Amino acid sequence: MPNNTPNPADAVPSATHVTEEQGAEIFAEKNRIDGLNRIRQLVFGSLDGLLVPLGVVSGVAGGTGSTKAVIVAGIAEAFAGALSMGAGEFISGRSEAQVQQTEIAKELAEIRDAPEYELREMAILFEHEGVAPEDAARLANTLVHYPEAYHKTMVEKELGLQVGVSTVKIPEALTMGISYIVGSFFPLIAYFFLPIPQALPVSLFLTVVALIVVGIIKGRLANLNLFRSSLEVVVVGGASALGGYLLGTYVPRLFGY
Ligand SMILES: [Zn+2]
Repeated sequence: MPNNTPNPADAVPSATHVTEEQGAEIFAEKNRIDGLNRIRQLVFGSLDGLLVPLGVVSGVAGGTGSTKAVIVAGIAEAFAGALSMGAGEFISGRSEAQVQQTEIAKELAEIRDAPEYELREMAILFEHEGVAPEDAARLANTLVHYPEAYHKTMVEKELGLQVGVSTVKIPEALTMGISYIVGSFFPLIAYFFLPIPQALPVSLFLTVVALIVVGIIKGRLANLNLFRSSLEVVVVGGASALGGYLLGTYVPRLFGY
C-alpha cells in the first residue's frame, strides 16, 4: 500500500549513511581547528621574541656602545627566552590539562556512583539548550546506552571541557619556543652587519615590520580585518617596547649606571 506521508526520519541522514569519506572530512575539520589553536602560542611566542630581545639589544647598544656586547647579549637572550617560554608553555599547558582531567575523572565517578541523578542532569542540560522536556528525556535515555558518547556529552555540556586532551604539551611548547627564536632574529640581525648608530634604527624598523607580519598572520588565521589586526599588534607591541626602553634607560641612571 503506497504511503505518501513523509517519514520524518527521511529528512535527517541516518548515521549509517555517513560514508567513510564524510567521516574523514568531519575529523579533518576538527584537526584543522586544533591546528588553529596553535595561534595563541604563535602570537605570544613571536611577540615576546620580538619585544624582549629588542629591549635587550637596544638597551645594551645604548648603554655600552659595543657591537660584541649587543650580539652576545642578544643571542643569549634569544635562546634563554625561547627555552624558558617553551618550558613555561609545556608546564602551564600541562597543569591546565591535568586539572581538567581531574575534574573529568570526578564527573565520571559521579556517573558511576549516581547514575539516576546524572541521567536526570543530562536531560536538564538538553532542556537548557531548548530541547522539549520529553525529547530531552528521550535523548538522555538513548545516549546512556552508549557510554563513550554519554560521558563525552556530559563532560562537554556540564563542564565545558573536552575529553582526551593530551597532557604532553610538546607541539604547544615547540610552537612557542620556535616562534620566539624566529622573532628574536629581527631585532638582532642588523647588529651583525652595521655599526651601532645605523644598526639601532634598522633593528627598530625590522621589528616593526615583523610586528606587522605577526598582525597579518593573526588576522588571516582568525579571519579578521588585516589592517586593524596589524595596527593592534604594532600599537600594543610599540607601547610595550617604548615603556621598556624608557624604564631601561632611566632606572639604571637612578642607581648611577
Ligand atoms: Zn554530570
